[in-house]
Amino acid sequence: MTSTSLPASDNLGSRRYLASLQADSNAAPNQHLLPLTATVTATDHLAIGGCDVVALVEQFGSPLYILDDHTLRTACRQYQQSFERFYPGQALVLYASKAWSCLALCAIVAAEGLGVDVVSAGELMTAIEAGVNAEKIYFHGNNKAYAELELALEVGCRVVVDNWLELKTLGEMATHQGKVVPILVRITPGIECHTHEYIRTGHLDSKFGFDPDQIESVFEFLATQPQLHCLGVHAHIGSQIFELNPHVDLGGVMAGWLVTAQRYGLTLTELDVGGGLGIRYTESDDPPSIEAWVKAVCDSVIAACQAEQIPLPRLLCEPGRSLIGPACVTAYRVGSQKEVPGLRTYVAVDGGMSDNPRPITYQSVYRALVANRMSEPLTETVTLAGKHCESGDILIQSAPLPALRAEDVVTIAATGAYNYSMASNYNRVPRPAAVLVKDGEAHLIIRRETLQDLLRQDCLPETLSRPFESP
Ligand SMILES: *Cc1c(COP(=O)(O)O)cnc(C)c1O
Repeated sequence: MTSTSLPASDNLGSRRYLASLQADSNAAPNQHLLPLTATVTATDHLAIGGCDVVALVEQFGSPLYILDDHTLRTACRQYQQSFERFYPGQALVLYASKAWSCLALCAIVAAEGLGVDVVSAGELMTAIEAGVNAEKIYFHGNNKAYAELELALEVGCRVVVDNWLELKTLGEMATHQGKVVPILVRITPGIECHTHEYIRTGHLDSKFGFDPDQIESVFEFLATQPQLHCLGVHAHIGSQIFELNPHVDLGGVMAGWLVTAQRYGLTLTELDVGGGLGIRYTESDDPPSIEAWVKAVCDSVIAACQAEQIPLPRLLCEPGRSLIGPACVTAYRVGSQKEVPGLRTYVAVDGGMSDNPRPITYQSVYRALVANRMSEPLTETVTLAGKHCESGDILIQSAPLPALRAEDVVTIAATGAYNYSMASNYNRVPRPAAVLVKDGEAHLIIRRETLQDLLRQDCLPETLSRPFESP
């Protein structure tokens, strides 16, 4: 994915820039740069969910994650309605909660009828506490701890088994507890797709899942383990994918696995194609709509099952980024600036790699707007830097913006996925608050960390607790 650097134009303000970045109003949330409710107020401020972004920062502080209820729910509904249309009555959409796991988000997606996929005891507990039905929770992970498997058995969620160690351990645990455990088997499909190397998981050299060579022996083993009820197969090929073909190919490959299972007397009824649909971070990103993606997946599974003459399985998918990514923006306050003559101007904000590690981790490109002066011409191209003690802590290399002043509220778009969930306390910076905005009201969904929170886990052994004396 490459980014085009925008020419600084003297009368293209954030307002028009915003308009040029928004797809047409019929487009899916994942094709928009900003939340669907984004508008400009009479005072020339950016508003989301009917709330003035500048006022939100005054009330809740900065940096601030601002999550738009409407955009998230619209994305959920587009997934649900598309499946209803192309695969009636037999689909389940799971929110991949690693994109952003918190109580409010799990509660919203559950209220929309979605299930949740989790990859740790922490994410599992969050989903359970939020009231997600255990039958709609799918537990992934390539190295689940024994205690995590125990928790899975206790709450009764589905376990997506990743490897032999887990399969055998789970088999023994189920026998020991006299339980029948519903599982899926994760298999690496061997499908290449064009995305960042770290977020590609479908090719054969991946740490996740059984190798296709192992499928027969896994099914053979499962045929002897009635306490492990194998519901189906799972695959996930990667993230931020803009092509439909990898998922079309995947449908065919996975239907083949159902046929293989039949040969071992196993009737698998679920096929989980994972997540991966991309979103728009910049004007050069052009992902397919949610509906187009769902249609491609359904068509391919239906065609493959017809060709194999097997009944249609229940179809599951696990979107993370495309559900939550476009629904959130992060608002920062501008602080210091540094001009390197002839090279660039650094403008620093009061957050950075601790609240958004994607630019430094994946070289991800974002776009920013000045929320308090939306009509101001974008006359500058600046480097938007974070406040961390790391030269690589740059949020945006080349951001077309008006000349910035201290206290301006700079807002970065499409920060819902893999921002809060990957946030850290690097440099002992407290993690930001998050608010949910809807119809002009804002509700705190994550409290800002305090300095006391940062010290909460620290222990000072008795031997260190005396003031140090010089020898
Ligand atoms: C990360 C992941 C997802 C979600 O991926 P997105 O690209 O955010 O849609 C779904 N399933 C599994 C197993 C994952 O690891």
